[in-house]
Amino acid sequence: MEALARTREILGDLVGFPTVSSDSNLELVAYAADLLSSAGARLSITRDETGTKANIFATLGPDGDGGIVLSGHTDVVPVEGQDWSSDPFRMIERDGRLYGRGTCDMKGFVAACLAMAPAFAEVGLTRPLHFAFTYDEEVGCFGARALVRELAETGIRPSAAIIGEPTGMRVVEGHKGCYEYTTEFTGLEGHGSKPDRGVNAVEYAVRYAARLLELRETLKRHVDPLGRHDPLWPTLQVGRIAGGTARNIIAGGCSLEWEMRPIRHAEAELVKREMAKFVDEELLPAMRAVHPDAAIVTHVVGEVEGLAIEKESEARDIVFGLTGQNEASLVPFGTEAGLFQSAGISAVICGPGSIEQAHKPDEFIEIGQLAACLDMLDRLRQKLSR
Ligand SMILES: [Zn+2]
Repeated sequence: MEALARTREILGDLVGFPTVSSDSNLELVAYAADLLSSAGARLSITRDETGTKANIFATLGPDGDGGIVLSGHTDVVPVEGQDWSSDPFRMIERDGRLYGRGTCDMKGFVAACLAMAPAFAEVGLTRPLHFAFTYDEEVGCFGARALVRELAETGIRPSAAIIGEPTGMRVVEGHKGCYEYTTEFTGLEGHGSKPDRGVNAVEYAVRYAARLLELRETLKRHVDPLGRHDPLWPTLQVGRIAGGTARNIIAGGCSLEWEMRPIRHAEAELVKREMAKFVDEELLPAMRAVHPDAAIVTHVVGEVEGLAIEKESEARDIVFGLTGQNEASLVPFGTEAGLFQSAGISAVICGPGSIEQAHKPDEFIEIGQLAACLDMLDRLRQKLSR
């Protein structure tokens, strides 16, 4: 069957698995594993600690180092509260577009890779070609984190990774990181007339937030030396604060949701280090002087590494060669690319569809974008068979 027709068929099947990040992706994994192993790939399927989600890492061609990774995530964002004109988990075609949850972010790319697997297998590859399909990207790249760790443990060292997030098939070489946290403050309730007898969690949360905002000003001086990010500096913001009961009760609890988007990993480290110091040396001692059980606990919602722009990048050169582009851009969203990069694997983002449609109701992918992606993969096949 023609590659595009096969890709559409597979994409329809993939959309039919409702792999929202909160739910299992095992049915999709079994489906993809079946296609990959029929193409002759060697598979490694690794479950998460709940046993309800899994990564697939598959290899065609020779074993060993120096391979190329085609990477995509299998999970999708929820559809609750979104106004869809059709069933989001049943793909339909309208005006040259395929509609359904995940069509552009990013089952379209995964479908194209799966459709091409038999063709890759046929040519006698000169280097390993890996397929890395992960879970839980949308909630913090947990699957990719586990996959990169597993690669390090097994000693497989691919040299380049193409992450097929929707970029309209443009080559993307960088993005900021995205680090998200919830910090919980536990104080001691009491009557508002005697504030010194309690520990006011809201007030400590406000002091914590104020320190974050000071650090935000520090981050503004860490300007992007290449002048390409927008804005040019690492950002930080507090998005939500919730706590307390009423104006005359000392607040017993408070939570603060905040995020930062560093350009370099060191900036995130700086903020974490400074906040830990502030908590240990100032806030906690003051809280515990009144109430020994007072606490400040920070939960990591997600820590997505940035993708740093590299002078020399094998992945970028490969995709330039495959697509005929000679300029790479940046995107304002996080991807799994930075995790591969931090494991010493050169990484670039290039995939079908537009981020404009990602996460929205009536998500779609242009069929032309799938064709362009298949074109890139076919050139890769030719390149690897020489
Ligand atoms: Zn995505």
